[in-house]
Amino acid sequence: MENIAYIGIGSNLGDKITHCNDAIKEVSKHRGNTILEVSSFCRTEPWGKEDQNWFVNSVIKIKTSLTAPQLLRFLQGVEAQLKRVREYRWSPRTIDLDILFFNDEVINRPELQIPHPLIQDRRFVLVPLNEICPQLIHPTLNESVRELLERTGDNKNVIRT
Ligand code: AMP
Repeated sequence: MENIAYIGIGSNLGDKITHCNDAIKEVSKHRGNTILEVSSFCRTEPWGKEDQNWFVNSVIKIKTSLTAPQLLRFLQGVEAQLKRVREYRWSPRTIDLDILFFNDEVINRPELQIPHPLIQDRRFVLVPLNEICPQLIHPTLNESVRELLERTGDNKNVIRT
C-alpha cells in the first residue's frame, strides 16, 4: 500500500539547517519511504512562545508504505535520534517533525490528529506547503492550501531562503 504524506520539519537550536537536512536524510533511509518533494527552507519567527530563536522550517512530500500511526512512531524515533531536547511546551528543539496530511485521511486520536490541527494557523507551515502543493484540498476544511494561506489570521514573518 502506498501512501502520500506531507511532513513539517522545524529546528530552532544549534545548526538548524543541518538538523533539518539530517532529518530529511533519516526519513529517506527507511526503505518504505521515497522523498518526492522538498520545499525551500524558511527562516521563521517563533510562534506560540515568542521569546526564543527564529526557526528554520520546511515541508516535504513523501511516498510511504507506512500507515499514519507507523509513520508517527518512525518520526518520533528520528526526533529521538537527532537528540531533540524537550524541556517544556514550545521550548527550543533540535528537530520537530509533524505529520501534516496523510492521503486524505482524517484521524482524531489523543496521540495523533490528521490533518495536523494547526496547519491553517501557521504561516511557517502554509508558506512552504503552498510551494509544493497549492492546490491540495484540506480534507475537513475543504479549502486549498493556497486559500488557507490567503485567509490565515497568522501574520508572523516567514522568509524563504
Ligand atoms: P510537539 O511537542 O508539538 O512536537 O507534539 C508532539 C506530540 O504531538 C506527540 O506526542 C504526538 O503524539 C502528538 N501528535 C498529534 N498529532 C500529531 C501529528 N499529526 N504529527 C506529529 N505529532 C502529533
